[in-house]
Amino acid sequence: MRYSWDVRDIYVRHRNDCRYASPNPKKPTRLPARLTFGCGCPIYARLQVRHPDPGVAPFEFNGSLSKLGVREKLAAEELVEQWTVQFLSTGGRTPDPNTFKSVEQAIHDYLAEKRGTLDASKESTNLTIQKIGGILKPLTPFLKDRGIVYLKDVKTEHLSAFQETWLGRLRKNRETGELVRQQKSQLGKQKNQEFLKMFFRRTRELRWIPENPAELLLSVRTPKIEVKKKTAEEKQSILDAIPRAFPHIAESVRAFVLIQRYSGLRLVDVVTLRTDAVREDGLMIMSQEKNEQPVFVPLPPVVIDLIGKLQPKSAEYFFWTGTSTIKTAVNDWSEKMRQLYVEAGIEGKRTHEWRDTLAIEVLEGGGSLEDVQLLLGHKSRKTTEKYYVALTKKRMEKAIDARRRTWDADVISVPAARS
Ligand SMILES: [Zn+2]
Repeated sequence: MRYSWDVRDIYVRHRNDCRYASPNPKKPTRLPARLTFGCGCPIYARLQVRHPDPGVAPFEFNGSLSKLGVREKLAAEELVEQWTVQFLSTGGRTPDPNTFKSVEQAIHDYLAEKRGTLDASKESTNLTIQKIGGILKPLTPFLKDRGIVYLKDVKTEHLSAFQETWLGRLRKNRETGELVRQQKSQLGKQKNQEFLKMFFRRTRELRWIPENPAELLLSVRTPKIEVKKKTAEEKQSILDAIPRAFPHIAESVRAFVLIQRYSGLRLVDVVTLRTDAVREDGLMIMSQEKNEQPVFVPLPPVVIDLIGKLQPKSAEYFFWTGTSTIKTAVNDWSEKMRQLYVEAGIEGKRTHEWRDTLAIEVLEGGGSLEDVQLLLGHKSRKTTEKYYVALTKKRMEKAIDARRRTWDADVISVPAARS
């Protein structure tokens, strides 16, 4: 195909600190600075392509290619070539530069947009962006290995294969000291997939891709969520184990555990509990996750007392120095809790079980699902609804019991069967 270029100018705008920005007059280069590539400065293009059909308006582009993820001259030329072919072969449909966004750039732009929606003053914002970035960013090299650079070329099967790369954490074997790769849980895979789908859904909304390859991903099967309540004995053995497992920081660990037990707060929210959050009868929590509104968490006087006597780790936080990253602090407390449970001889989903326990106790005490949603700070009712199953089962059992008791009041006489 012969192109009818009117203008085809691919050039560099050097940054101020680039060695090509102000060329050395004593050593003139062969090429003008704007045509000297390879330094990593942003690449631009100015294009005008005429269509063979004189009735069709020419395709014009004038702007940054780097914003589309193009960082090399060859890639820039290839992209311009693709646009031209698309323009000429579709009878003059103007190519949308965004549909040539690279995977890398799309992830970058998506994260930037996401960050813009989060509260920059919150410590959790970095954590959230890191988490999403940690899931999405490996997609770029994974696809590059398979020859895929542009988002539009990503297929469902690439994403299926990508999901296979999700592995669990490395954990030290306590006896041998060896690092062992754990298998990623189904729930963990499901969460990752959710982030992957969110990304592609958004890129589709923004028309960076003609269709969403993540939509057709098979859903990750997860085992039925079993809602388990901690028994009175378990609660006691956890408390009893504290001085044995942590003789030097028993007060701190006790306060930590009791706050979890009575508030149902997520581990990260307890770790980052501010010293100014304490009220006479509870805690005013600026949640680290999901809920933007501060949540009031009632606590029994004995726990408030305990917190009052506690020596905070720093001026601002009870359980965190405030100097390490949140992630480090969370991992540290998570490990402490693990040790404590081992000492107490209890198995279970540590933090989450406190939340489950609180939910079930509130429901059994006559509270509503809305009450639980508020107390646990669930943004979506769906999250709270899993407790409904546990509740309705309990209610059904109660109803059946009640019905059985009424039987005793009935006197039935059954006529003998005819033989
Ligand atoms: Zn440069």
